[in-house]
Amino acid sequence: MSCSRRSSFEMGKRTVNTELYDLLVIGAGPSGLTAGIYGHRAGLKVLMIGGYAPGGQVTHHYNVENYPGFPGGITGAELMTRWLKQLIDEVGEMPRPSSVTSVDFSNRIKEVYVNDDVFRAKAVIVATGSKPRRLEVPGESRLEGKGVFFCATCDAPLLRTMSSRRAAVIGGGDTAFHTAMALLPHAELVTVITRGSEPRAKPALIQRLQQSQKASILVQRSVTEIIGEQGVTCLSLQNTETKNFETFGVDAVFVGVGQSPVTEFLDGKLELTASGFIITDARLNTSALGVFAAGDVRDTPLRQILTAAADGALAAQTAADYLRMLPDKPQ
Ligand SMILES: Cc1cc2nc3c(=O)[nH]c(=O)nc-3n(C[C@H](O)[C@H](O)[C@H](O)COP(=O)(O)OP(=O)(O)OC[C@H]3O[C@@H](n4cnc5c(N)ncnc54)[C@H](O)[C@@H]3O)c2cc1C
Repeated sequence: MSCSRRSSFEMGKRTVNTELYDLLVIGAGPSGLTAGIYGHRAGLKVLMIGGYAPGGQVTHHYNVENYPGFPGGITGAELMTRWLKQLIDEVGEMPRPSSVTSVDFSNRIKEVYVNDDVFRAKAVIVATGSKPRRLEVPGESRLEGKGVFFCATCDAPLLRTMSSRRAAVIGGGDTAFHTAMALLPHAELVTVITRGSEPRAKPALIQRLQQSQKASILVQRSVTEIIGEQGVTCLSLQNTETKNFETFGVDAVFVGVGQSPVTEFLDGKLELTASGFIITDARLNTSALGVFAAGDVRDTPLRQILTAAADGALAAQTAADYLRMLPDKPQ
């Protein structure tokens, strides 16, 4: 019989990891990766569970121009590759590529579940960011992946496989304009369709898109249905001023109407705003003692790479301070 220490034991259907971590970071975008690096440098035993997107949303950004230190900009993929390399150099391993499915924050030792696997830690940082918001119109789910897409960086090259390559981008903010820029090399025509009387995106982004002969902007139109059988053939649009309906022929639709926080797995265990963002205080404490939140997932006035990273650093520091105050024996 082997006398090596067991790394896990069975409890009912569940497999409990015997390792007790000081800090468990959920998420591997700018906020989670920074929290991991700062936690490790503070001498904490850190476990990172990063979901299926190491590097987070930034890996899909066409170009990042406002992150200090990179005059002329840097692609999101390159920026996050550097970030992950620094994490591996510092911490020695990549975040686990699994998604947290539920949590129990009711005791001093927090439990984090990946299906039936249980991970335990004295403190947790939630850094799960945000995901694309949906239009919630008929046809969107049925045609998802068959002409309806949510990520231009991932799916724009599919346009090259189509005989006709007219793309529509739905939305009027930065997300929509970044998406449209990423589509230009692959599409014949790119039309940004927005409900407002003018787009809300940064003027520099709008101007850059307008420099392309392939691009146009259609204002005061709301998508009411995405139409097609095997693929997308057209959109049903309603004029937001006259209320009249019209159809608009397209071969692909990219939805770029913003982001919503990734908090479903919390299942009411933390206090959220009405729109679902985690409420924190200035030190990033949440409503549960020993649980902190960082980055886009929390209620904050600015959601950027720089602010997400700053949150990650502060959350790790607050967690380290909290752990120093704990009595030795867990209750
Ligand atoms: C189109 C677009 C363009 C942008 N351009 C810029 C820009 O130019 N400059 C700028 O500063 N900011 C930009 N932003 C904002 C920036 O991307 C975000 O502020 C930043 O990515 C937030 O980082 P985060 O770590 O909080 O979250 P995210 O980057 O969203 O990372 C979340 C992480 O959590 C993980 N995760 C999710 N669910 C789970 C789970 N259940 N279990 C485990 N892990 C999970 C994911 O895998 C991912 O690793 C842009 C955003 C968009 C949408």
